[in-house]
Amino acid sequence: MAFIEDVLDAHIIGAGMQHFGMETIESTPSRVPLPEEFQCWGEKAQTDWLLHQADAVLNSLLPPTDMEDSDFGSLQITLESQDNLRLAIDEMKTGDGTYKCNQTDCSKHYRREGNLKRHLRSVHNWVTDIPHPQESSRKATAQVIKGSFVKQALIARDTWDAYKMGDGDRAIRNAKFEMLYASAAGHWKYRQWLFRMLAYEKAILTPRHAFEYKWNISANLQGQAHASIPGDNLVELQVGSIKRKLQSQGANVTFSSAQTAAKTTQVVDMVKNNLSRENASRKKGTSRHQVDKSADVHKLCHELMHSDYFTSNNHLPEFTNMSDTLCNIDARKLDVFMCEQKKALAGIHC
Ligand SMILES: [Zn+2]
Repeated sequence: MAFIEDVLDAHIIGAGMQHFGMETIESTPSRVPLPEEFQCWGEKAQTDWLLHQADAVLNSLLPPTDMEDSDFGSLQITLESQDNLRLAIDEMKTGDGTYKCNQTDCSKHYRREGNLKRHLRSVHNWVTDIPHPQESSRKATAQVIKGSFVKQALIARDTWDAYKMGDGDRAIRNAKFEMLYASAAGHWKYRQWLFRMLAYEKAILTPRHAFEYKWNISANLQGQAHASIPGDNLVELQVGSIKRKLQSQGANVTFSSAQTAAKTTQVVDMVKNNLSRENASRKKGTSRHQVDKSADVHKLCHELMHSDYFTSNNHLPEFTNMSDTLCNIDARKLDVFMCEQKKALAGIHC
């Protein structure tokens, strides 16, 4: 993750230098200089100018056409049409489990859904299948690879930030994209986990519980801004400290002593933390030493700037098989997966 962070920083700084027309990080912008009267502007005008420049830098990394091409639109249409088809077929279900075609001047009966689908296809010209995925026509140009990396790295960074800040809204919003990325990259475990996270928040829990679920995704143990950690890491820490407690009891451990340990370790840890903070004593091993990565980022940035990485949009012969990650989503498989998951969740929660 640290390496991804550094490479992302190098991309952002490099694109910024390209945009402003800077040779090195110390040089004066030649293409987009700071307006002379900038200092005299009001705060809002200054912010607007800066945001405008930031937009331009982002657009140079992720051109708007790139976002349109990334198959979000077609994926949405495919999945929606599949959903609508399922609703329409459900409407044709009769009480005894058979199907009756409800199109005008047609009342054919079918026992099986497959036969009804075949009938709808051949007689009423319905499209009932998702077309097979076509070989992506997009070749791996430098622009595509750059965009693909930057999109994923920005989502990862934003999610980490959301966890650190305890921002449940953002984590849930990003989970949608992450589920698509998990589908594209074949991380089935994460795809399922993210789907369930979304399902719980959107549909299964009551609004009150959904709100709690969303805002309890991370917790703060150290009591500083930006120091929240995700709930599952918290559980790991907790399990670890209970284990240590039980090991220290050795052969004397009983069910009730384990129970007491589970109930009290967090409180004891909090008391310890508060005491050590009041005495201003340094607790060992609680936070990682912050390493200054600017030299690494500078070097990466230098390499990127001195190749034609930011300016060219050539095809890259070394990466012929590479395309935007999202292009690898198989809409058929995603549809089947979501259907199965919906059925499974309905089975558990009905
Ligand atoms: Zn019919």
